[in-house]
Amino acid sequence: MFCNQCEQTAKGIACTTRGVCGKTAETAALQDLLMIAVKDLSAYAHAARQKGVIDDEINHFTLEALFATLTNVNFDPECFKEYISQCESLKQKLEETLNIKGYSLAVKESSLNLSAVKSLSDLIKLGKTVELAPAKDKDIKSLQQIVIYAMRGIAAYAHHAELLGQENDQVYAFIHEVLPQLDDSSLGLDDWINIVLQCGKINFIAMELLDKGNTLTFGHPVPTTVPLGHKQGKCILVSGHDLKDLKDLLESTQGKGINIYTHGEMLPAHGYPELKKYDHFYGHYGTAWQNQRKEFVDFPGPILMTTNCIQEPQASYFNNIYTTGPVGWPGVVHLNNGDFAPLIEASLNMPGFKEDQEQGSVMCGFAHQTVLSIADKVIAGVKAGKIKHFFLVGGCDGARAGRSYYTEFVEKTPDDTIVLTLGCGKFRFFDKKLGEIDAIPRLLDVGQCNDAYSAIQIALALANAFDCGVNDLPLSLVLSWYEQKAVSILLTLLYLGIKDIRLGPTLPAFISPNVLNVLVENYGIKPITTAEEDLQAILG
Ligand code: SF4
Repeated sequence: MFCNQCEQTAKGIACTTRGVCGKTAETAALQDLLMIAVKDLSAYAHAARQKGVIDDEINHFTLEALFATLTNVNFDPECFKEYISQCESLKQKLEETLNIKGYSLAVKESSLNLSAVKSLSDLIKLGKTVELAPAKDKDIKSLQQIVIYAMRGIAAYAHHAELLGQENDQVYAFIHEVLPQLDDSSLGLDDWINIVLQCGKINFIAMELLDKGNTLTFGHPVPTTVPLGHKQGKCILVSGHDLKDLKDLLESTQGKGINIYTHGEMLPAHGYPELKKYDHFYGHYGTAWQNQRKEFVDFPGPILMTTNCIQEPQASYFNNIYTTGPVGWPGVVHLNNGDFAPLIEASLNMPGFKEDQEQGSVMCGFAHQTVLSIADKVIAGVKAGKIKHFFLVGGCDGARAGRSYYTEFVEKTPDDTIVLTLGCGKFRFFDKKLGEIDAIPRLLDVGQCNDAYSAIQIALALANAFDCGVNDLPLSLVLSWYEQKAVSILLTLLYLGIKDIRLGPTLPAFISPNVLNVLVENYGIKPITTAEEDLQAILG
């Protein structure tokens, strides 16, 4: 086993026996094998696309399969066996389509004959022999790993968007073209740097599609007060990122006396008009994903995990947690096609909250349309010297102690500054009362991690208003990363030419010293230091 794709990787180098996330060596082998299978399928899909043959089923499958390999999404060996088998079937289907059309394609694929390997144990054995980033040169290998991990992030966003009816063939075409290039030993350092930046471009398209999907389906988020306490009664907790699953569940639970609560990255869902209109969509429970094993224990209803990030369920709630979409944990009931009947039944059989409890509230719903609707006020605040600086403090949360930096950073921001936040990193400070500047809250929750798109739109609009570039704005980005969606967002920011990003809590293990130098020299990327030191450096 060798996995170094996330921030909590063992010893800051790689997980080699069992993942810190709980991934077994067997699941890791199957995930690696699936990547090879998707790479081979991509080679066929790319060749077919050159002939004008585009297969929607392959496109959609590609996204889901890549998404399943993202950190904390799917730990179930049987799921990966099924995905690998689907890969082979889709390849055969495409070959048949092409034969009927009279095309014979010379497709270069791996020498693995996956259709001949039937048992789970043989697949695992084979998976242990493959290498995802095959380059010998350590800098090219590093760039290949960045590309593989960014693809997983892109696939996650594009998958969500596709479920909401938003697609762009550029995304599929890019993945299908680039994955097989991992085997192209003629590509050099500059080629891979270019591919890395192209990942940023394609991720921007994916986030734009998702923004469109979310806002067309659920309306533009509006400022919303979200209770952190609970109401007496039956309850279901929904975690992850998939707003469509949440909407389907809200529909299915109408009139059943069950209140729906969000956990982790699902918090911003409360700001969407088409979700907040449900009376039984009540409040937010708990904090970020890494606290689920202690927070879920006390939740008196069942839990639905819609995307990442699932952790090994504790015995006390193992029978009350359900997965859907690409999420999986061995032995946990998986719900398909929006059929939430078992979840609803579990809720009705569980005690629910015994009484109402007030625990304060937080605000969400400051996505691009809301913030841009008060742009005049913001610009006037800057011109009058009332707003001196903007910080985007966002990204993922995680277990590392060094993440308290982000809490301290936000606490120490001066009163004449505004903090925009997004992603689950916000749970380090989401309930801080930072006050207001001329009725503009100093802490603005822009949304989920994919709403980095919204933050980019806000930054571009401000740059436009002040007739300058984004890098000339009084704006600093202080980001926390954990998994591969953060990798793809970082590449988007680099692709857009955004400089001087501060990144923490540690730098990715898969970035080689020379690749890091390129990022430092060309983009001014810096590791975080201390809250005081960084604020001093930014504000002078
Ligand atoms: S996803 Fe992260 S924690 Fe899990 S095995 Fe990979 S590097 Fe380790």
